[in-house]
Amino acid sequence: MLQSLPKLQLFDLHFLNIWMYQALDLITDIIHQGTTTTIFIINADCLNKTFDDPEYRHTLQEADHLFADGSGIRLGCRIMGETLLDNVNGTDLFPLLCERAAQHNFSLFLFGAKPGVADQVKQTMTQRYPKLNIVGSQHGYLNFKSSEEQILIQNINNSKADILLVALGAPLQEKWLAAHRSQLAPKVLIGVGGLFDFYSGNIPRAPLWLRKKGLEWTYRLYQEPRRLFKRYILGNPLFIWRVLRWKWSKSHS
Ligand code: UDP
Repeated sequence: MLQSLPKLQLFDLHFLNIWMYQALDLITDIIHQGTTTTIFIINADCLNKTFDDPEYRHTLQEADHLFADGSGIRLGCRIMGETLLDNVNGTDLFPLLCERAAQHNFSLFLFGAKPGVADQVKQTMTQRYPKLNIVGSQHGYLNFKSSEEQILIQNINNSKADILLVALGAPLQEKWLAAHRSQLAPKVLIGVGGLFDFYSGNIPRAPLWLRKKGLEWTYRLYQEPRRLFKRYILGNPLFIWRVLRWKWSKSHS
């Protein structure tokens, strides 16, 4: 299973082109196989960031698996003549992952977001899935590159978590995981962005009908217009333009 999943390419990055259930099966297989594996969930904004940040681009190139998140990537794939099977975003993946973890007795460690948020997520999800084992949590505003970071890594490893979810936002979470993967004991290392804020109830998610239409981003923009204006209003057209430019360069090379 690990070797045989289909991929598609956008720019110089290779995404898994899989259904949500295959993402869950992949995570299950990784834990059973026991090799530490990075999974990054990448949207159009992340890809835009790679154009200004070569280190981030390299980090994504070196990842074990990239999941495709959001309508921007779907549209980018369509422009390239490819069909993205599913939107494997962290927010939809998370409850399914908790359910799977509860069934298989996999344990989770939550790292990231403001103080108290990961603890709230732990409470909410263990109420929802009583057999779920969240073995530790840590907010994301610690002093990186200090002893605090080393203590965190020790705590993660001592917790014996199978899955580490890191919610520091892109590109920090991917860079942090790439830099520390050799020190980390959990088998599955996933970057999940703002996910804890949704599941702690701090930021409500878009209504289902908007999500089904691939328009969740419009709701996010409505919630935080100042912060997200650049990401969506400038970022979405820029992303499409970059895909078109890449398509043109491929057909002329
Ligand atoms: N965050 C953090 N530490 C930091 C910077 C950010 O824990 O030093 C958290 C922040 O509180 C939020 C998440 O990272 O919960 C970033 O959310 P955002 O929606 O910006 O991330 P994206 O999904 O766009 O990557």
